[in-house]
Amino acid sequence: MGTSYEFECPACGYTAAVSGDDDAGMICNTTTIVCRTCRKLYDATIILRSFDSPEHQEIPIRCPKSKKHAVERWKHPGPCPKCGAQMNRGEACCDWD
Ligand SMILES: [Zn+2]
Ligand SMILES: [Zn+2]
Repeated sequence: MGTSYEFECPACGYTAAVSGDDDAGMICNTTTIVCRTCRKLYDATIILRSFDSPEHQEIPIRCPKSKKHAVERWKHPGPCPKCGAQMNRGEACCDWD
């Protein structure tokens, strides 16, 4: 099961609910990415598994808004995508699987 956290930037107030690292659920693995174009954090699915086959599908990271956006992996503690200050990790806000 994966867990998301409420991240907050103390400098500009930007918040994002993401896992902040590699994370794994029942049928997929995710990682947190930063989109340099949107200047936002997202969780992206990187591996999809299926129950009836041992194969898994690897998915290149991309911004959910557009595949043309420039994205890279982001890991806590990391910089705010808006202003570059270090983000604080708050409460776990939801579990998913
Ligand atoms: Zn900020
Ligand atoms: Zn984007």
